[in-house]
Amino acid sequence: MPITQDVRSVGLDGPFRPTRREKGLTMSTTTGFESDELPGTTVDAVVVGGGAAGLNGALMLARSRRSVVVIDSGTPRNAPADGVHGLLGHDGVPPAELLRAGRAEVRRYGGRIVAGEVTAAAPAAFSAEGDPRFTIELADGTVAHTRRLLIATGLRDQLPDVPGLAPHWGSGVVHCPYCHGWEVRDEPIGVLAVGPASVHHALLFRQLTADLVYFTRGTDLDDNTRDRFAARDIRVVDTPVTEVVSAGAGITGVRLADGQVVPRRVIAVATTMLARTAGLDGLGLPMEDLPNGMGRRFVTGPAGTTAIPGVWVAGNATDLTAQVGASAAAGAMAGAHMNADLATADTDTALAAVRRGATAA
Ligand SMILES: Cc1cc2nc3c(=O)[nH]c(=O)nc-3n(C[C@H](O)[C@H](O)[C@H](O)COP(=O)(O)OP(=O)(O)OC[C@H]3O[C@@H](n4cnc5c(N)ncnc54)[C@H](O)[C@@H]3O)c2cc1C
Repeated sequence: MPITQDVRSVGLDGPFRPTRREKGLTMSTTTGFESDELPGTTVDAVVVGGGAAGLNGALMLARSRRSVVVIDSGTPRNAPADGVHGLLGHDGVPPAELLRAGRAEVRRYGGRIVAGEVTAAAPAAFSAEGDPRFTIELADGTVAHTRRLLIATGLRDQLPDVPGLAPHWGSGVVHCPYCHGWEVRDEPIGVLAVGPASVHHALLFRQLTADLVYFTRGTDLDDNTRDRFAARDIRVVDTPVTEVVSAGAGITGVRLADGQVVPRRVIAVATTMLARTAGLDGLGLPMEDLPNGMGRRFVTGPAGTTAIPGVWVAGNATDLTAQVGASAAAGAMAGAHMNADLATADTDTALAAVRRGATAA
């Protein structure tokens, strides 16, 4: 199929425009918000990370009359995006607006949201009754003490090292057909292959545009897959890619090693997804690498439980492919599970006190 064509300007609310340039490689832009005070007492739960997962976990805990503090550094993964898509009842809401509403909901039930970055977290001595305790240190030197911990730090997307790619992350460079596929429909899209997962990626983006070019970038593509691509009019380019070419704020093409520029408006690329672990090493949470360079995540069991009693993980930090709805749901599930665990611990403590009293009498 021809790879040169007029760029059709289409979009949900008007022409498709690559809107923003990211400031740094895969770093989300900072979302500022007003901070609550960190309480001086031991709280029932500290949530590290105030994205969809952390806030929904905190909401369940706060509504269960648990003292809960969310500590959030304000750099959610989808910050470069203009809207959250595919989230029933909120499709297209700006990411910052969704989080603003979530913070207000948590605060409505007495939860606190502290702007800050956790730089150290570690188990502390158990209570006399055997209840877990944790100490959390923030970058400003303040310290929080808690009975339970929900890790909801999200992940970092690592892009392949192709010059010119990173500045367009979240606008002209997309990874998720469900997040921004509709917005780039019918555009000339180029898939920059990173491995076997890119084949599946290409088929999903073919559903969104008839003008798709697959740049193999040295990855294997067997004859059967080439036939399948040809049957769907997906053009394959094996010549190495040297850079993504831009004009103004928008992508105009992909330059090849032979100097040719293949006109493209949008690049689809699978990222390596790495759970955000900074400041959390002291917890000793098990992690695992996923196959085909997909990424690295915290290992969890049902409802986000971990091998460390008293610590749960929810959202992208453990489920690398979860979108906002699934991340929020996982946070809610973890929050409910934490409340149940606390209810059992509170009852154990009360019973021990009653029995001590009976023995003393
Ligand atoms: C460009 C782009 C567009 C996307 N568009 C969509 C979309 O349209 N629809 C959709 O459903 N999904 C979309 N997603 C996916 C979406 O971003 C994730 O599903 C969602 O952000 C996961 O929520 P989370 O709470 O797990 O993590 P995050 O939203 O990333 O939140 C994690 C929070 O933890 C904080 N944090 C991390 N470490 C620390 C620390 N040490 N101390 C304190 N705070 C910390 C961060 O600052 C951040 O605020 C998109 C992703 C990208 C990259």
